[in-house]
Amino acid sequence: QLKDLNESKKLTLAGQLAAGIAHEIKNPLTAIKGFLHLIKADYHGNDMYINVITEEINRIESIITELLILAKPTEAKLTQCSITQILDQVITLLNTVAHLKGTEIQANYAPNLPLLFCDENKIKQVFINLLNNALEAMNNGGIINVVVTSENEHLIIQIIDQGTGMSKEQLDKVGQPFYTTKENGTGLGLMICRQIIENHQGRITFSSSSSGTTVTIDLPAQSQGLDHE
Ligand code: ADP
Ligand code: MG
Repeated sequence: QLKDLNESKKLTLAGQLAAGIAHEIKNPLTAIKGFLHLIKADYHGNDMYINVITEEINRIESIITELLILAKPTEAKLTQCSITQILDQVITLLNTVAHLKGTEIQANYAPNLPLLFCDENKIKQVFINLLNNALEAMNNGGIINVVVTSENEHLIIQIIDQGTGMSKEQLDKVGQPFYTTKENGTGLGLMICRQIIENHQGRITFSSSSSGTTVTIDLPAQSQGLDHE
């Protein structure tokens, strides 16, 4: 079991590092925001510059907030959520990264979707992990589509990428702890996703070809609460 011990240590360190950095950045950022507000009050030049700075600071702030949420294990908190609102937040966050890579995440939602009874932060984490995988598989630009429909009080969420895809052997191993093909991967993302979705009484499935991967999540909109973790 020596390998497992080392692997879990790696994860803890990465989590601690992320939380530490996020925390350190948050304080100076708050100060910058405060002083920017003061400058704006008696600045008579072109407002556009200050508005751009404010927007960029807000963006950094939302990234930091997400990092802190991810790094901090929280108790399950179940509420009625709008899945499209959750997805929009995650997509806005990750499109900043996507645009740098010449890719774009697009959303396509059916009308009148049911609300989802869920742990919002955990569900967010699932989509951050899945969209990060999709982004990491797309080396030549392209579009990632996030499609949501509903059927019999179930939400069906599909993430369709145009990335490298996976072979049958790879598909078989996906979700096994520490299975990764990436130099800096943990191989834990999909295991965590599967755990969270199954705790919500849902299912996650993968299909893949050389032209990309589709991840499908089926979630009962009103599950009776979480299974024990
Ligand atoms: P990590 O991202 O740290 O490698 P994951 O559990 O998220 O760990 O993914 C495990 C492996 O599954 C990845 O290393 C990759 O080989 C494969 N994979 C996951 N999602 C995709 C995808 N959308 N396209 C291609 N391969 C994928
Ligand atoms: Mg991953």
